[in-house]
Amino acid sequence: MVYLDHAATTPVPRAVADEMYAVLTERFGNPSSQYPMGLEMKKQVEAWRAIVAKALGCQTGELYFTSCGTEGDAWAITAGCWQNRRVGKHIVTTAVEHSAVLESCRWMEKQGWEVTYVAPEPATGRISAEAVLDAVRPDTALVSCMLVNNELGCVYPITEIAKGLAAKNPQTLLHTDAVQGFMKVPFTPKSLGADFVTISAHKIGGPKGIGALYIGQRVRNPRPLLPGGGQESGLRSGTEATAQIAGFAKAVELRQAFLKEHPHHLEEIRDYAREKLAQLPDVQLIGQGDAPHILSIAMVGWPSQNIVNDLGSQGICISAGSACHKGKPSHVVASLKLPKKTAGSVIRLSFGPETTTADIDACAAALARHHDTRMPML
Ligand code: PLP
Repeated sequence: MVYLDHAATTPVPRAVADEMYAVLTERFGNPSSQYPMGLEMKKQVEAWRAIVAKALGCQTGELYFTSCGTEGDAWAITAGCWQNRRVGKHIVTTAVEHSAVLESCRWMEKQGWEVTYVAPEPATGRISAEAVLDAVRPDTALVSCMLVNNELGCVYPITEIAKGLAAKNPQTLLHTDAVQGFMKVPFTPKSLGADFVTISAHKIGGPKGIGALYIGQRVRNPRPLLPGGGQESGLRSGTEATAQIAGFAKAVELRQAFLKEHPHHLEEIRDYAREKLAQLPDVQLIGQGDAPHILSIAMVGWPSQNIVNDLGSQGICISAGSACHKGKPSHVVASLKLPKKTAGSVIRLSFGPETTTADIDACAAALARHHDTRMPML
């Protein structure tokens, strides 16, 4: 199998699974229990939290485990709006966010909030800090802008947005969905100037079902996501997912070790793929694509879903954008305002530590075959 869909999810290395297995079967204590196995687990959860917090570049007290990136996004949006409900009932986000953010914003709209969806620049997918800041008003409670776009690989100017907000509307809180940015592009919550940062384990070799939300000091008395037994400093109750948390921390450690040894691996693979695929007939590069692990292309005229199905049947896993619904381009691709033929042909390749140039060669050969043997769109 050739797996080129690391932005969708990643394989869990053996060492991560082994760590999780030991926690599930031998060190299974509940961190709230008062006997040694529980007390030990409580300490251990804090040690794992410290590993993830250090990799993110924040204090352990600022990092809350969640069940996934989607949960972190939903929590950040509701908590940001709650804290600033007296500032106003306006949210600024972008039209290219993951549905975890978009649907949370739509839910706020149902509760009477107004949301401005900033459109990206046509074709490139870029979003400037000015475009976001222009949408900010005195009653803007929250700005939510992703760090790395999951379909295009565009990196958005969060630091500039934060600086602009501080000058224009210092009370407005800033959330960034960094699910595709964590351990891919260098940043810390402080360097971004964000009040909320969402991350998720399964994009970096951790298990599915665990993520984290950074909540910064400006968020006084954050609104609890799950009231209950008081876990996660009383903000997100529910018995800690110890095995998942263990796997998250182990994945972070492994990824750090990999990055230390191979700091440019992803960029090298992306650049190799970009060059190789650009040589194929009718292939066009899509989006600005600064993130090291995501490459978006179109084989103009050849429907993306057919490509994904054809390559999939040969064991080559790529994606047609995260949300290619019933043959229609995803909301991200649609926002680029590409010609119809191009928009219907966009595919995404995404890479991880395991990806080799041989994987790219195999994919390029399969794409060339697809081009030569399948019918283009009418
Ligand atoms: N945000 C972005 C940018 C993503 O790419 C994803 C997952 O694809 C999510 C949020 C949701 O993360 P999770 O799958 O952990 O809920």
